[in-house]
Amino acid sequence: MLKARDAVRKLPTYHPPLSGRDGLRLDFNENTVGCSPRVLARLREMSAEEIARYPERAPVERLVADYLSVEPNELLLTNGVDEAIHLLCETFLEPGDEVLIVVPTFAMYEISAAATGARVITVPAGTDFCFPTADLLSQITPRTRLIAIANPNNPTGSVANAADLLEIARRAPQAAILVDEAYFEFYGETLLDQLRNLRNIFVARTFSKAYGLAALRIGVLAGDADHIAMVNRVSSPYNVNGMALACLPTALADEDYVSTYVEQVRRGRSLLQEEFLRWRVRCWPSQANFVLACFGPLKTAFIHAMRARGILVRDRSRDHGCEGCARITLGTLEQTERLLPALRATLNEIGMKEVAAK
Ligand code: PMP
Repeated sequence: MLKARDAVRKLPTYHPPLSGRDGLRLDFNENTVGCSPRVLARLREMSAEEIARYPERAPVERLVADYLSVEPNELLLTNGVDEAIHLLCETFLEPGDEVLIVVPTFAMYEISAAATGARVITVPAGTDFCFPTADLLSQITPRTRLIAIANPNNPTGSVANAADLLEIARRAPQAAILVDEAYFEFYGETLLDQLRNLRNIFVARTFSKAYGLAALRIGVLAGDADHIAMVNRVSSPYNVNGMALACLPTALADEDYVSTYVEQVRRGRSLLQEEFLRWRVRCWPSQANFVLACFGPLKTAFIHAMRARGILVRDRSRDHGCEGCARITLGTLEQTERLLPALRATLNEIGMKEVAAK
């Protein structure tokens, strides 16, 4: 009888709650107003001929290389960062290898790594979700072959500093160090300029978040040219679809669109954090386009009452150390101006009290 591999049968299923997402979507860290109108126009112009052809990745890779200030052979365009994670696992992991991840974090590291038969070792974040550098270093062994770090992290928004990441890369030269910069635009710090110093570092970026292209599925993995050549061997030559490849140059050209959006998200992030402070709702500093907040036993009531007001937020209470927590994505200032009164009304409704302003 046909059976899936053991490692696959043991995997947990991961089904993000994608259905019935009507309303203000502050639940998936997407761009809440969509991509640049110029990208949309480009998509509408797609010809039958363009769609009939197998997609050609290389010209767009040259453009993205310029954008990231690396050489074209130091990167690979991928079907989102999700695929970059998958390809790294396929390239570097053997059954029994060890993979280190810091929890809570993005779910796909564990899934893609465990699917190969590797052993995933979770290192809990420190107090207030601080990056546990010392604990992580102490878990490195000769069998460590992948260390995956989201920076900024999801769902916490916390960051690891560059010096710590470099130290990890130095102490584990036998391991691929994935620095997942999916939320880079909202943070502004990168390890891209270190790829030639520490050849085991890979940086991943996505166009799903700030650029508003989540449905097109396009991201990029950058790293040492020889390692990228190996990753390329396991990638399909058509892993990125033609619509995404056609749109990306336009998306990159419209810098103002992304920078204006990012500015609004950052402003909204402060406003939301200030609001939580007034209600004594615990939340954590975030360098991403979302804020994680703790509502304790009122979490479910909070999420339902927000949904009743047409605002979707994400339940993260099952993530390690996140009991009672929900994650709220920020969008434009106009959307934040809609979010805040709804939030106040909701907190009142579930019985919380605003602390008098000074
Ligand atoms: N990495 C992190 C840290 C994420 O939060 C997400 C999306 N939730 C991804 C990667 C996946 O991005 P993509 O859409 O490019 O696959």
